[in-house]
Amino acid sequence: MMAASHRLGGAAMGMLAAHMLTGPEDITGKAVILSAAVLGSLIPDIDHPRSSISRKHRSIRGAVGLVQIMLRGISGLLPGRQGNYLRTAAGHRGASHSLLMAAACVLLVHMGVLICPAWEGMITLAAWGMGAGVASHLLLDLFAGGVPLWFPFSGKRVALAHIKTGGVTEWIIRILSAGILAILAGAEVIKWR
Ligand SMILES: [Zn+2]
Repeated sequence: MMAASHRLGGAAMGMLAAHMLTGPEDITGKAVILSAAVLGSLIPDIDHPRSSISRKHRSIRGAVGLVQIMLRGISGLLPGRQGNYLRTAAGHRGASHSLLMAAACVLLVHMGVLICPAWEGMITLAAWGMGAGVASHLLLDLFAGGVPLWFPFSGKRVALAHIKTGGVTEWIIRILSAGILAILAGAEVIKWR
């Protein structure tokens, strides 16, 4: 699935989280959740060298690439099944496309409280936004061939559909996400007035 679709899906999911977690006057809180959700919606694709997040942040891409090369090297030393498992985890749509990754991202953002306890409220909202964004990415990829949702307990890909990247169905998903985003944003504006 393309980055634009993930951004839109992340924004829609972030808006839903903002709708549930913040009051009508809390514009800053909503902006924090939305920004974190859009960022989170791109994070699982750090495992692909040509994803938009990898191209923008080459140092992160370099570090992830190094870990992937190491894991592939180790996988060659392991017997068949374990080797395949590790190779799958290290490839595109591997470990970074799991619920464990979503939980790790939420936890990592929330650990910001340890550095800046005075901002606990905002950091908690950012952590929720991050979780919503990563979850939206996993949800969309479930329709685009599947993801190893239960990694490390199972390396098997869970799939709901196999839609074509850039095809008509992806455009329908984009339009639906934009529609959800517009409806929720409209609801917020009405509450605000
Ligand atoms: Zn992905």
